Amino acid sequence: MRHWTAERLDGQKPSVFDEMNALARRYNAVNLGSGTPDMPVPELIQAAVERAVAAGHNQYAPVQGEAVLRAALAAHAARFYGQEIDPNSEISVTNGVTEALHAALFSFINPGDEVLVFEPFYDCYLPTIRLAGGVPVVVTLHAPAFRFDPQELREAFSPRTKAMILNTPHNPTGTVFSRSELALIAELCQEFDVLAITDEVYEHIVFDCESHVRLATLPGMLERTLTLSGAGKTFSCTGWRIGWAIGPAALQDALRMLRQFTVFAAATPFQFAIAAGLRFPDSYFRQLAAEYQQRRDFLVDALSACGLKPNKPAGSFFTLTDISGLGSANGREFCNDLARNLGVVPVPTDTFYFHQSHGERLVRFAFCLRRALLESAARRLANLPILCEAER
Ligand code: GLN
Repeated sequence: MRHWTAERLDGQKPSVFDEMNALARRYNAVNLGSGTPDMPVPELIQAAVERAVAAGHNQYAPVQGEAVLRAALAAHAARFYGQEIDPNSEISVTNGVTEALHAALFSFINPGDEVLVFEPFYDCYLPTIRLAGGVPVVVTLHAPAFRFDPQELREAFSPRTKAMILNTPHNPTGTVFSRSELALIAELCQEFDVLAITDEVYEHIVFDCESHVRLATLPGMLERTLTLSGAGKTFSCTGWRIGWAIGPAALQDALRMLRQFTVFAAATPFQFAIAAGLRFPDSYFRQLAAEYQQRRDFLVDALSACGLKPNKPAGSFFTLTDISGLGSANGREFCNDLARNLGVVPVPTDTFYFHQSHGERLVRFAFCLRRALLESAARRLANLPILCEAER
């Protein structure tokens, strides 16, 4: 038999989330690996899906998305960020942010173009840059605060840089980029004529009165930023795959040329329902952040109580902890040990790093599960000191 798989997939492995989900199933462990929210989808949104189906909104949506959702997205951008977005020409509705990022890289990157990316990064960024023919250039967010060094950022830009990917609030570190950090990024993007692609899927999950600043709102950035976000994290419906890309009409035209022949459109009734959610009062969005802040505080305290040193993220629903000195050779082994011996699964972060060895001492715990499950995880983790002692 010939080898069917295309060479472009050489070296690709199942994602770390698949791997850790399998581990969780095998040991019946509390899964703090994949960041999958377990809050119910708000009832008004569920009802809106049913209404949309009953009303016959079941056929192909336009490539750029249903008008009702684009109008709601423009109103949401005006309400939260003071942006004026043309819903007809400046928005594409996508199948989640993963598809939006894929579409962006395939629409704007030529083979050999450099794409700046912060490490650690969400796992799909690097393979997608490479599949599009781009050359990743990495700027490290340094532990323990997980911020970049301004000089290193400046040195990473070059005349070959075509785009940069910025994820804020950031997965997996929880860093929320400050206005002054974004100002430097904006200055460099303009100096080197670079397209900014932002992943803001945790935009409403920000804690302690921090605020999320949208890069596109900084002076001079609107015309060179594609803002990606989605409904999955804000309305607890990651399986609906509704995301979007907001940015200048010229960029939207390119996305449309690509997407008309790839995914074509996103699911129609869900678009109607998310349009309703985006018009929820401010209190919904505040309540969401408050709920996740309680979950964060609970898990960070529980991890600290068993001797770990988790970071306290300003946003997202992840916390990182260094596992040096706990007896496991690396994060991957630690996750396996934890699953097998205690029944809790985090994720190792090596695949979130360009130089995988840089991430091999860190593991990420997600705190998006409900209190009862976090409590069960905490009870199981309470045996960690005993386990580490035994392994020494
Ligand atoms: N974005 C989520 C995370 O980082 C979910 C990833 C996944 O399960 N594919 O955990």
